[in-house]
Amino acid sequence: MPPRCPVCEGSTSFTFEKDAHEYHRCAACGVLFVGNHLPPGEVHKRYSQAYFEASAADSDEVRLGYPSYREAQESLKTSFSRKLDLIRSLSPRGNLLDVGAAYGTFLLLASEYYECYGLDVSDYAAQVARDEFGMDVRQGCIEETTPFADEFFDVVVMWDVIEHLTDPIKGLQEVRRTLKPGGHLAISTDDAENWLPRLLGRNWWGLAAPLHLNHFTKRGMAIAIQRVGGFEDVEFTPDTREYRIGEIVGHFGVSFKRRWLTDFGKRLERSFLGRRVISVARPEQFIAIARKKDRGKE
Ligand SMILES: [Zn+2]
Repeated sequence: MPPRCPVCEGSTSFTFEKDAHEYHRCAACGVLFVGNHLPPGEVHKRYSQAYFEASAADSDEVRLGYPSYREAQESLKTSFSRKLDLIRSLSPRGNLLDVGAAYGTFLLLASEYYECYGLDVSDYAAQVARDEFGMDVRQGCIEETTPFADEFFDVVVMWDVIEHLTDPIKGLQEVRRTLKPGGHLAISTDDAENWLPRLLGRNWWGLAAPLHLNHFTKRGMAIAIQRVGGFEDVEFTPDTREYRIGEIVGHFGVSFKRRWLTDFGKRLERSFLGRRVISVARPEQFIAIARKKDRGKE
């Protein structure tokens, strides 16, 4: 029996296998997901120091995790400021929760305007956020009951985290509980139905099991928000980010398993051209915004 869709419970069909991970696609909402993932406890163990600082750990997790999240922070800041501007245009102040806060990089920027809280499944990352960056990031999982009170947050952000969840609907239900009526939820993730992932198939760089388990689609996101209930219709906006030219070339090398292209990307990164940063709204990424309905209108 093929597994049911984790987003809409629709029927699914086996699509391909990659590194022993079985990918299925939902016929109803298009979500592409890993059908044979490990239990949540095992998945969570992956978010160790080696995941965030793979170069230092000299581990083979390099391909899936961050070579160094500490070093990536500078380049993340531009896209995070853009996301912060978007959030401020919706809910300009109040309590903000960053789900999957890592070292608290986004919170550090947001703390100028909001009372900031973070949650991360990684004990290591939460500790770095507290000790090195002074951010209130707690170790915890959004798919379980978090320590936050009902209707406490004006804004909840989930930047590149929903694809990691073993049960995204449960995660969104917990977000709904902690969000104030009229508050906003912002989610950035990949669109598995876009032409680029379709073209690249099993070579798409977004596939990163056992870390990425659910590749959403815009339809899937709208259905997920509807199933959780209590939200107005979801809206979508492009997700512009900064990339170094050499880094982009390297991505293609990894995806197509072309060593020469990966090496070329690395060599480019040492040149003026390769280090040039360009702003790109990748076709397969989106930000979804959902406003929780006002009290009495649920
Ligand atoms: Zn589905």
